[in-house]
Parts: sequence; structure tokens; C-alpha cells
Amino acid sequence: MTSELLPAKFKPYTRQTISQAPQWQLLPEELREAVQVVSRVMPFRTNQYVMDELIDWNNVPDDPIYRLTFPHQDMLSPSDYSNLRDLVLVKKDDAAIEDAVRSIRLAMNPHPAGQMTHNVPFMNGQPVSGLQHKYRETVLFFPSAGQTCHAYCTFCFRWPQFVGMDDLKFDARESSELVEYLKLHPEVTDVLITGGDPLIMNTRSLAGYIEPLLVPELAHIQNIRIGTKSVAYWPQRFVTDKDSDDLLQLFEKVVAAGKNMAIMGHYNHPAELRTAIAQRAVKRIVSTGATLRMQAPLIRHINEDPKGWAELWTTGVRLGAIPYYMFVERDTGPSHYFQLPLARAYEIFQSAYSSVSGLARTVRGPSMSAFPGKVVVDGIVEIAGEKVFALQFLQARKPEWVRRPFYAKFDPDATWLHDLVPAFGEKKFFFETDADAPHKTLQLVTRHTGRYVPGATSETPEPLAIEA
Ligand code: SF4
Repeated sequence: MTSELLPAKFKPYTRQTISQAPQWQLLPEELREAVQVVSRVMPFRTNQYVMDELIDWNNVPDDPIYRLTFPHQDMLSPSDYSNLRDLVLVKKDDAAIEDAVRSIRLAMNPHPAGQMTHNVPFMNGQPVSGLQHKYRETVLFFPSAGQTCHAYCTFCFRWPQFVGMDDLKFDARESSELVEYLKLHPEVTDVLITGGDPLIMNTRSLAGYIEPLLVPELAHIQNIRIGTKSVAYWPQRFVTDKDSDDLLQLFEKVVAAGKNMAIMGHYNHPAELRTAIAQRAVKRIVSTGATLRMQAPLIRHINEDPKGWAELWTTGVRLGAIPYYMFVERDTGPSHYFQLPLARAYEIFQSAYSSVSGLARTVRGPSMSAFPGKVVVDGIVEIAGEKVFALQFLQARKPEWVRRPFYAKFDPDATWLHDLVPAFGEKKFFFETDADAPHKTLQLVTRHTGRYVPGATSETPEPLAIEA
């Protein structure tokens, strides 16, 4: 066994403890200062494995895993940064810092794509906490013990869960309501257990959520998915942690029950799959009969290089994983810092996709998880003299929308669905004719308030939406 594969103790670092990390002293003063100031808004958490094995400290601050892990000055507007810096480093006024931080966060669209409203299901007239049911066949479950992560990603749309915005937080303490809900919904075939990272939990706690899904009354549940970043940030979870064997046995138990145990592995960069332990983790997961899919958003400063995507997918396929999604970075948090235009995202995807073998072309993208569904940019073409984006839904609130091609005027600066307008002189996209698909309205409202205003339309004046 190489030293990399020996048991390691998980040692996290946060704003409060990062100065204890040996690498911290290597950072220039201005970078340390930026981390201290910006992390008031966007918290960071990392661990010794990420610090030692994944970050190239000779290449800081440009190293992609450094940018993925530590906050940067440019993630805030110059005025917000300067104001917050003054409060944190000069005035040291806790109440004023708290006010400034909350106001910056609320302007960052904390729950995009209608997560706080349209996706929460009801049972007996009451909202079911810790559940989202956006697509007919898939229910998302947020166990309370899995709402943190081995490390936080600076771009992550789950950030409200990490910052104590309790009024915006949703999670479930146990699975009994989930089981009851699923019994009432035979159309649901997939349960996605997500977070945060559910694999932050020990195996015993995780089994407490998963085993109740194996009962005969839930025979319609065919796929149990776990969304996790542990494969990249803490692969020891599958290899050397003291209950790693128990975890693999739990996967085997799900498979033996006739269900698909699907691990949705979150890999942002090929560096995350270069270490011996990360590769061993993939081998061990797939040896249980579970499947491991690879997905990640495309993020400026971090994974813009098509060769990096090609390496990631190719290595994954060699080890037994399945490339699944390249997402477009969501319109939340410091998205101005991370977003790329859709046109550029399409170019990167196309370049990476065309350079890998057919086995890696299971990947789909670039895909936006927007309010009406997952919209993929299929191409940029000229039709009847007009340059357009060719788009389609890979997944949609209404099943009949899926794979129906539609077209938007080409816009070199557009970064998200709400930036696009229909091509060929159409007034609306086909899915906007439904009163229940006000995707632009939601963006408008939540950008400012973090809340959806029932009845608001895209014509609702902004001040009214802010007041509501
Ligand atoms: S939920 Fe995933 S993307 Fe978000 S911080 Fe955790 S590990 Fe990173």
C-alpha cells in the first residue's frame, strides 16, 4: 500500500483555523486579506488532503483548485469589497459587518430556479420539509445530517445552506415523511439524496435514510442516487475511513435489493482524479455494482480548458465511471466572477466532446438547470439567414417539453436562459405561454429579495416586486 492509501485523519480548515495550515504562510498578505474579508460573505472550508494533494502552491492564486477553494476579492463588487474590508479590518464593528454581509448575500439570488417555492411538495396540505419534487420521476431529499461538505466550492449554488440563512434553509431530520410521500407517488422512480454532501455522514446515519427505501411498498423506486463531492475532496471516504467498507457494503445491499445505486460524483477538474487514492475510490465504488457518474459546472478561472474536460472524462471512463453532465454555472452567488457566455460554453463542450472516444460521449452539455427544466445548448447555427442558438430540454417540468427543439436569437454575451429571446420574431418561447412558467419573473424577484412573489409577472415593476 502506498503512503497515499494509508488511513488519514480528516482535518478541516475554515476562516477561524486556516492560519494553522502550513501553506497559509506561503500566501502573500493581500491574498490572505482577501480570503479573510470575502469569506465573511462566502464561507470557505477545505481540508488537509485538498491542501496537500490537489492545490499546486507554486501556481497560487491561478491554481484552479485554489480558486475553487478560497474566496477572492473579485467575487465582490469593488464597492462591496471596500466597504466590507473597512468594516472587518478597520472598524471591526460586528453588527455592521452582519448587516453588510446579509445585504450582499440577498443580492446574490440565493435560491435560483424557484427552489424555495415551486419545487417543495405538499402532503396533507402541508409542505414536506427536506424534499423537492421538480420533475415527475425524481424526488430530491436533503437529510439534515448531510447538509455540509468536506470542502466548500466558491461557486456553489448551495451556499445559503452553509451560511446560516435559516429562513432560506431546508432539510429533513428523518426519512419517514419521505417514505410516506413516495408511497403516495408511484410515478417517482428516482430518489436523489443530496446536500451539501450526504457522504459527510457516517455509514450508520446514511443507512438510516437509505434502508427504509428498500421496503417492498417502494418497489417503484428503481434508482437511489447520492450526489457527492467526496470522490474528489475526500476519496478516503471510500478507501481508508474506518467505515469505508461498511459504506461499500451498503451500496451492495441496495444493488442486492434490485435497485440501481447511482453515485453522482462531482468532479470539477482533472487534478481531482490524478491521485492514487481518488482512482482507487472509483474502482472500489464500481466494484460494488454501483454506478458512478461524473458531473460538474463549467466555471471561468477553473475549468475553461477543453483538454482538462477531455482528460477528466477519459480517465473516468478508464476507471469505470460514466461522464454525465457539463452544467452551465448557475446564476447565483458571485456568478459574475465564474460565468462564461453560453457561446463560449458551447465551444468548450464541443471541443472537448469531439476529442474523446465514443465511450466518453455519454456526457451532455452545456446544460442550464433553469426554472422550466434542464436546457442544453445543442448548437449555434444559421437558419433562414438568422444566427441562432439551437436548444432543447433534457428534463422539464412538463414531460411533453423534453427534447422539443427551440431556438433563441444568438447573443454572444448571454450567460443564462433568462438572457435569451426567441428567434424568428416569436414573442415567447413555447414554454412561456403557460402561466406557470414565469422564469424571467422569478429571476427578477429573487435577485432582489430572495423570495418569490405570487402573482408577479414579467411586467411587474421592480420596486413593487422588491416591496412585496
Ligand atoms: S454542495 Fe458540492 S459544489 Fe457545493 S460546496 Fe458542497 S461539494 Fe461543493
